Amino acid sequence: MAQPSDNNSIALALQSVKASLVPGVTLLAVSKFHPVEALRQAYDAGQRLFGESRANELAEKAAALPADIRWHFIGHLQTNKVRRVVAHAHMIQSIDSLRLLEAVATEARRAARRIEVLLQVHVAREETKFGFSPDELAEAAPALLQACGENVTIAGVMGMASNTSDVTRVEADFRAIRACFDVLRGGAFAGSDAFRTVSMGMSHDRDIAMRCGTTMVRVGTDIFGER
Ligand SMILES: *Cc1c(COP(=O)(O)O)cnc(C)c1O
Repeated sequence: MAQPSDNNSIALALQSVKASLVPGVTLLAVSKFHPVEALRQAYDAGQRLFGESRANELAEKAAALPADIRWHFIGHLQTNKVRRVVAHAHMIQSIDSLRLLEAVATEARRAARRIEVLLQVHVAREETKFGFSPDELAEAAPALLQACGENVTIAGVMGMASNTSDVTRVEADFRAIRACFDVLRGGAFAGSDAFRTVSMGMSHDRDIAMRCGTTMVRVGTDIFGER
């Protein structure tokens, strides 16, 4: 676990990340693998949106920290962990299959919780990343909408660019994610006011994402330090 170097460093880092954001872009502070004390510092500095990637870690941190935090789940989610995540998450950003969305809808209904989700779009070169291709998503959209039921709202898309120093490639990936969002917003989600989030951009590529139409950046390292 990384340790903050002093009591002020996280607040200062948070302030500088916020100052770098294009107006209208929301900051998700990605706190995975960092101790509760580090999150507390960001909380005390005003941060309320935190991102976690593991179900157990989310549950432990949610129990230890104030209730007005909005937890976003950003990791790959297995169906056997859905109940635990639904108990705490305000938003699940990593919906990568119809089956997973159905499981989220079932558990949300069971727990009488309302939850927002993002559809994960896969455009990056890496074989191992999860998500729908833009074509798959356009095709699956009606079934995904159908699967939401009363308790789940699809609020947009989430994606990652290829992990490369090739800026042209990264920019093309982000534009493809944004284009996928625009197609859905003009199509299957045309009637949905809730469909408005494009979550893309991390510590190292958020400036590129902001040029390409992100509405939410997910920043870990630049706030909390190395994991
Ligand atoms: C860890 C993680 C981030 C944050 O990455 P940093 O490089 O630390 O900013 C963003 N998005 C996802 C999906 C992650 O897993």
